[in-house]
Amino acid sequence: MNLETKLLHTAYAKPDAYGALSMPVYNSAAYEFDSAEQMEAAFTGKTSDHTYSRITNPTVQYFEDRIRKITGAASVTALNSGMAAICNTFITIAQAGSNIITSKHLFGNTYSLFVGTLAAFDVETRFCDLTDEKQVESLIDENTCAVYLEIITNPQLEVVDLEKLSKIAKRKSVPLVADTTVIPFCAFNAGKFGVDIEIVSSTKYISGGATSLGGLILDYGTFDWKLSKKLSALAEQQGTNAFTFKLRKEVHRNLGAYMTPQVAYMQTLGLETMELRYQKASTTCLELCSKLQELPQIVCVNHTGLKDNAFYEVAKRQFGDRPGAMFTFDLESREACFKFMNKLNMIKRATNLFDNKTLAIHPASTIFGTFTAQVREEMNVSDNTIRISVGLEDVNDLYADFVQALK
Ligand SMILES: *Cc1c(COP(=O)(O)O)cnc(C)c1O
Repeated sequence: MNLETKLLHTAYAKPDAYGALSMPVYNSAAYEFDSAEQMEAAFTGKTSDHTYSRITNPTVQYFEDRIRKITGAASVTALNSGMAAICNTFITIAQAGSNIITSKHLFGNTYSLFVGTLAAFDVETRFCDLTDEKQVESLIDENTCAVYLEIITNPQLEVVDLEKLSKIAKRKSVPLVADTTVIPFCAFNAGKFGVDIEIVSSTKYISGGATSLGGLILDYGTFDWKLSKKLSALAEQQGTNAFTFKLRKEVHRNLGAYMTPQVAYMQTLGLETMELRYQKASTTCLELCSKLQELPQIVCVNHTGLKDNAFYEVAKRQFGDRPGAMFTFDLESREACFKFMNKLNMIKRATNLFDNKTLAIHPASTIFGTFTAQVREEMNVSDNTIRISVGLEDVNDLYADFVQALK
């Protein structure tokens, strides 16, 4: 089956008793057993029966299975937000004394997780330019637990050459962990580009209508965890499954951030139309960017699908000719940005990405608003930039809203 078909026709693990065509929502905290022996077997991991919905749930498992089958990942874990997915991943692989190699150009909460939350547990973050191979290589040492990146940074829209970066990670025996939220599975297969652990905020493309928060951890089973300081002993028994074993049998159970069945249901529906929505939104995005480049009030339009973009070639190689439905543009000043935001009629003033509706935000005063001006500068977040997440509206209606708001 091709991906479009798989998105719809991946079978349930167990057929529903009533033949329900939609995935039933199992809103049950616990599960009943026929005997003490069966109960023992389930609780000690000898069988995979469900015991308690913080650990596994049939509806969530169906969603996880669908993602696993369409991506080719070895295992998938669904959590209740993208941040929970990032946090669970790092608590699985990092310990006091570990370090993470990454760029300063990160999603704001991820940056705060690294420099605040994880730093308090003696996990160090080493920031560098991930496009500079020598710098990356020189920072990796025996305590490095991962090289971490976002495939298109937000709002800077930088793209790292994944083939090059994954070669360095392999040579240095550290896993490559990537947040791929901005390009969905239908346009980008992270496993093929050497990503060992993939993280997705399913709040975005997958949920579609922005109905719910969700996060995914995909383990491609490609990293030899015997090379990991924290997981090497476990890897002697579990092999390439050591990461998922540690995550599922300890970390995610203890942190208690598993996806809920209602959310898994909504996101399974979202997944079924993801490809269609992505085709429409990414095509509109590119068309809109080209039209906006002609407007005199706009200083520059930044989207990696534009031929004049510095990352055009690498983005095309990795994500195809329509790399996502997010772009930014610069106006003359912060005041001009605020005026524009306030004059929008149809486009919504809101955070979030890849809702069905088009959204606009001024990142410097919002997502990055509590950071110091110096940190904002280091993160390359300009006061003159507006970020747009393109939805499913008609391109001419979107353009008209831009034109009137810029008057
Ligand atoms: C939104 C987002 C996150 C966080 O996901 P939540 O579901 O909001 O917790 C992480 N990374 C990127 C790139 C995002 O866009």
